[in-house]
Amino acid sequence: MDRVVNFSAGPSAMPLEVLMRAQSELVDTNHAGMSVMEMSHRSKAFEDILENTKHLLKKVMNIPENYKILFLQGGASLQFSMIPLNLLQKDHEAGYIITGSWSQKALKEAKKVGQTTVIATSEGDQFGQIPDFSNITHSNNLSYVHITGNNTIEGTRFTKLPKTDAPIINDWSSGILSEEINVSDYGVIYAGAQKNLGPAGVTVVIIRDDLIGHASDTLPTMLNYETHTKADSLYHTPPTFGIYMIGLMLEWIESLGGVKEVEKRNREKASLLYEAIDQSSLFYSPVKKEDRSLMNVPFKSGNEETDRAFLHYAASKQLVELKGHRSVGGMRASLYNAMPIEHVERLCEAMREFERTIK
Ligand code: PMP
Repeated sequence: MDRVVNFSAGPSAMPLEVLMRAQSELVDTNHAGMSVMEMSHRSKAFEDILENTKHLLKKVMNIPENYKILFLQGGASLQFSMIPLNLLQKDHEAGYIITGSWSQKALKEAKKVGQTTVIATSEGDQFGQIPDFSNITHSNNLSYVHITGNNTIEGTRFTKLPKTDAPIINDWSSGILSEEINVSDYGVIYAGAQKNLGPAGVTVVIIRDDLIGHASDTLPTMLNYETHTKADSLYHTPPTFGIYMIGLMLEWIESLGGVKEVEKRNREKASLLYEAIDQSSLFYSPVKKEDRSLMNVPFKSGNEETDRAFLHYAASKQLVELKGHRSVGGMRASLYNAMPIEHVERLCEAMREFERTIK
């Protein structure tokens, strides 16, 4: 088998064990005599799969009883609209902490719905850090505070949360299951699956009970969280294959020792790469040390031609998808849960070798 080392930011590498298991069960899932892709979403066989995935997510993330878990479609991007449509109350404002392109996009959608306020932004620092947000002054008037817990493009991550009575909403698309968090610190956590959870096409929403049921009657049924919580994600045909795959991913995480163990590995992986970057006299990290992401690691040489040459060199060593997002350039290595430390070592080695060859 000729599999490359895939540093893609998403959809991204999945554990080979999980892919092989899915392959072995593809035509006959759980002895149902049919594939999960052929099952009615109303069948007992699929209901068991849905229950299992929900049960595992609850267990692995330690989700309290007063939260609902939803499996929706439309990506994290649809949540940019669903959050304000469901949670932004009349005469209130939606607070946003702007830490990169994804939070800018989330804010843009909220503006279409109602009043918004930018609590803090690191735009002036090219999003190379998480801004200071100790100054939330108008807490009483906020329906929620939205953060992007891990910034996939810019490579930053929140290590503390704003102090506010308003529910904190976390776009955790590129951070979910990478480190332990306290779910009860949040009103809503949402994530597109295509990084640490499973394949593209399913979005996980974890929402606190008291935030459900306040939307306007005019809100289209499909955009209302209450529709989906009442029907347990079965109001319409859910992304059945994706839900099944998330279940397999969660079983794999459990087999490693849960998120605690996964976080330990992720910290080791990230330290290894940041060390290689910081020790290099060719590459540098554009991100402030304290705010560096464990999942997405951007680095640059400062010269586009050199960056291109490095990407070419890396590809010749089967190290692929290292090109930085088009908005920031340079390189970006995404080190999601599925990436073993040996693959990060190979990247560090390639960086050192490349540096030697061009000196
Ligand atoms: N938020 C973040 C932090 C992301 O990384 C992404 C996708 N890379 C999105 C939102 C958008 O997700 P989707 O493509 O699932 O709409």
